Amino acid sequence: METKFTEAYEQPASDTRHETDCDKVAKLLDAVVDGEATAEEQTFFTGHLEDCVPCFESHQKQKLLKGLVSGNLKRILVPERLALAIKTKIQATTV
Ligand SMILES: [Zn+2]
Repeated sequence: METKFTEAYEQPASDTRHETDCDKVAKLLDAVVDGEATAEEQTFFTGHLEDCVPCFESHQKQKLLKGLVSGNLKRILVPERLALAIKTKIQATTV
């Protein structure tokens, strides 16, 4: 009995092959940076980053980018005293 494997089994094209860990990490990147990933996803993510330099670098870049957008870096760079000085100045001019 001869089975026609070539017809019965659809061979996946090279670009639709199984999702790699790097693909999964790329998809998780936003969720992890935003702190929205599950514990399971975080574990997979950080575990992969230890072995994969390109993913590690893209994560660093993404974190930096998010920090800039949300203003986290600015808050760190501006000393509290300066912020207070600006606040008092604004209050002085508006009173
Ligand atoms: Zn990777």
